[in-house]
Amino acid sequence: MTTPPLATRTESSFEDFKLPLMRDGAIAEANRCLFCSDAPCIKACPTAIDIPQFIRKISTDNVHGSAKTIFEANILGMSCARVCPVEVLCVGACVYNDLHQPPIAIGKLQRYATDIAYERGWTFFEAGPSSGKRVALIGAGPASLAAAHELRRFGHACTIFEKRATLGGLNTTGIAPYKMKADRSVSEAEWILSIGGIDVKMGVTIGQDVSLAQLESEFDAVFIGVGLGIDSTLGIAGETLMGVHGAVEWIERMKLEALDLSSITRAVVIGGGNTALDAVRETRGLGIANVTMLYRGRRDGMSGYAHELESALMEGVSIEWQATATALTGEGRVQRVSCVRLDQSKRPIAGSDFTIDADLVLMAIGQSKLSAMFDDMHGIAFDHGRIRVNANGFTGRKRWYAGGDCSNGGMEVVNGAAEGKRAAHAIHACFEAEKSGAHTHA
Ligand SMILES: Cc1cc2nc3c(=O)[nH]c(=O)nc-3n(C[C@H](O)[C@H](O)[C@H](O)COP(=O)(O)OP(=O)(O)OC[C@H]3O[C@@H](n4cnc5c(N)ncnc54)[C@H](O)[C@@H]3O)c2cc1C
Ligand code: SF4
Repeated sequence: MTTPPLATRTESSFEDFKLPLMRDGAIAEANRCLFCSDAPCIKACPTAIDIPQFIRKISTDNVHGSAKTIFEANILGMSCARVCPVEVLCVGACVYNDLHQPPIAIGKLQRYATDIAYERGWTFFEAGPSSGKRVALIGAGPASLAAAHELRRFGHACTIFEKRATLGGLNTTGIAPYKMKADRSVSEAEWILSIGGIDVKMGVTIGQDVSLAQLESEFDAVFIGVGLGIDSTLGIAGETLMGVHGAVEWIERMKLEALDLSSITRAVVIGGGNTALDAVRETRGLGIANVTMLYRGRRDGMSGYAHELESALMEGVSIEWQATATALTGEGRVQRVSCVRLDQSKRPIAGSDFTIDADLVLMAIGQSKLSAMFDDMHGIAFDHGRIRVNANGFTGRKRWYAGGDCSNGGMEVVNGAAEGKRAAHAIHACFEAEKSGAHTHA
């Protein structure tokens, strides 16, 4: 259940980009908060943390109370304090933006309170009295962890099945190391599990080692938190050459293993989303001199966050806008990316071909969906490969719920945490309704 020692992993060479607040700085920042009554920062948080309340508690030096307010809403509040794109969530919604003054550093204040809670070993929640109900959860990522913790508070026994050797899902294997290292996510997962009564079966692939039918017959409800599948490919020549990887796969290796990058001086990342931006910032941060991002659209059409793009540009990443790769060439190992420029409709422009030298090519054009494993499950439907659920995470098949990337298509850790918790409440409501003879599953 442990990752290799941090010092041996490539990710260890990154420092935290955002420095933590110390006590005096945290109290001073907390005292700037206007404690708005109809706080827009709360509405911008998918887990609806009572932000003014936790900030007020920091201002009175009540760190324990502050951390409890955070974890009550979001049990992954420690990692979310580091990994949330606060610029487009709570901080982006802070009223100070309209006053043309610096918004409250909500993420840093959240980190201040939750880090102290972790360092001091505080725990806040206990499992409820046993209900006799058993819930299976597929995957040990943020969505399942949040769901399992909430289910335990209601007293339901949980079993998590995880195909990998590490806990935490993409929160462990995908997050840029300058935001958070893998071991922090793993220790957060262990802290969440310390509520007790959550049996974790690592190295078990549902659909392969244990069938979906088995889960259904052995458990009273099932939560699907499988996330997304492997990196998508472009379908061009040369994608199997050495040095060509899916970006998510490469980031996982960079975070968990020691990579030899000594012969790599030129990297090309294909894509324009947040994974592509993470990949260019990470390869650049690892000292690769020439890093180019190849994106088929224009700057105003890219799905990656503007603040991440600004940082990538400042760090010296080059970007080829409105261009795509047509082939990867090299002898055994990739050496060149053949490219073509695209017009406004993303059609190739005749005669605009060019090449970029590269010893590393990362494909960051999306991840496949894991919908195929549920093909035989009548009642579980899909929408563009995402599991279709209602607002409570109910799939339409009796006692089956889903949340996180597999149903939202790929969002943030905080969305997985919110959706896992919501589904846990729906499962509990379903059990309660069954007890009273009513029939509800939503
Ligand atoms: C490169 C990258 C960077 C990211 N950076 C950020 C960021 O900075 N901030 C942020 O908030 N979000 C970020 N995200 C998104 C975030 O990581 C995800 O939204 C979040 O982890 C989704 O949680 P989940 O539980 O739905 O799925 P996952 O985290 O993907 O977890 C799913 C788990 O299910 C397991 N599993 C899958 N199939 C099976 C099976 N059949 N049987 C058993 N187990 C199975 C998987 O091994 C995995 O552990 C990033 C994503 C990527 C790819
Ligand atoms: S919007 Fe800003 S000032 Fe208002 S409560 Fe939230 S953090 Fe404080």
